[in-house]
Amino acid sequence: MLPRRPTRQVVLGDSRVGFVRIGGGLPDSAGRPTEIAPVSVQTMTAGYTYDVDACVAEINKLVAAGADIVRVAVPEKKDTDALRQILPQVRVPIVADVHFHFQRALEAIDAGVHKIRLNPGNINDRSQVIDVIQACKAKRIPIRVGVNEGSIIERRDKQKRMKELGQVFSSQKHGYMLAIMITKLEEYLDIFYEQDFHDITISAKSMDTAVVIDAYTEIARRFDHPLHLGVTHAGPKETGTIRSVVALGSLLANGIGETIRISYANDPVYEVQDGLELLYVLGLRERIGVDLIACPTCGRIQVDLFTLIQDVRKHLAAKITVPMKVAVMGCIVNGPGEAEGADVAVFAGDRRGIIYVQGEKVANVPEPEILDRLLSECLAFQDRVRRGEAKLGEKKVEIIPPDPIGELGSGIAKIAAGQVQRPTGLTIGKT
Ligand code: SF4
Repeated sequence: MLPRRPTRQVVLGDSRVGFVRIGGGLPDSAGRPTEIAPVSVQTMTAGYTYDVDACVAEINKLVAAGADIVRVAVPEKKDTDALRQILPQVRVPIVADVHFHFQRALEAIDAGVHKIRLNPGNINDRSQVIDVIQACKAKRIPIRVGVNEGSIIERRDKQKRMKELGQVFSSQKHGYMLAIMITKLEEYLDIFYEQDFHDITISAKSMDTAVVIDAYTEIARRFDHPLHLGVTHAGPKETGTIRSVVALGSLLANGIGETIRISYANDPVYEVQDGLELLYVLGLRERIGVDLIACPTCGRIQVDLFTLIQDVRKHLAAKITVPMKVAVMGCIVNGPGEAEGADVAVFAGDRRGIIYVQGEKVANVPEPEILDRLLSECLAFQDRVRRGEAKLGEKKVEIIPPDPIGELGSGIAKIAAGQVQRPTGLTIGKT
């Protein structure tokens, strides 16, 4: 397990939707110890909150994908009004994203929302902030203070402040920006502390990966509140993935970050899926469902492996709920070694697939039957795990490679003889 930074703990939810804990490791306000909670994954709906049915459907879809927390935008009163109908229909803590109008926060709190996000860049009237803090305090609702790069800079004094404050971080590439973010945060949090309000999470997002890493690292050093990690405006999934994973992965690997949101210009389901996968690969969450190992393919393949991998992924994602390791390998040259540790594995060759379950060969089937047979073996293995007759990862795959000439009837000999035909209809790079 990677080391984790101890923080205060924030709890959101209610007895109907359940409670999600963020952070922990430091004593609570009554001095009781708290345990560090698993890193949670959150996302935000893309549709209009006032469109109640569509909003409920989107939230439920995100929950089904694995979201622990869902945020909704409430720019207008009709959005906070809609919360009264939305909240009873969903089973996940809901965060109201408030900008410019502090009244939206008060209305959302009144409607029963589980958390408020405030932006110091656009709700900074002291008395308004205090009103929101007091309303949250009365209902024990936490607040996220989100100092996004783009929204915190007050244009008119940008240059002056950057000059004054940038000296503090002059050794860092993004020193001026960091100085403004940290100072804005400190000024804002002082209002919360004066009200004896500590139910706070902090975010400091930027679209620049280096700024995100530097800002959160500095904030983690200065504050003991749990941190909500994110890269803002990360772009489309194709490029946003790298940007987000580099920033969030670096911070998480260094023990920083208690809840995450990956943001894409795409269906937010991808944000949840990728956020969970990031936590799985870092060992910060216990995997639910299949851990799919697949070879990248090369000139040795003799089946349509890309299609097979996508079909396996799609079908297993819907049916397997135990953290089973499944390997789909294109051939027997490197396949057995690379699939070591898989619970279920298939090695393809000469338009056939040989299937192993925990190291034991169970089938040798022609290409059109590989998918069905692999799925049925996975389901049967899952049943055995559930009945306690098998243990995940217990019997490591110790595969004696199938005979490339005999059993698969092709492999190295045919490759060497130049007799291998690429399967027709194979689309390289198809996903
Ligand atoms: S497992 Fe075989 S087909 Fe796949 S990349 Fe390795 S050598 Fe190529």
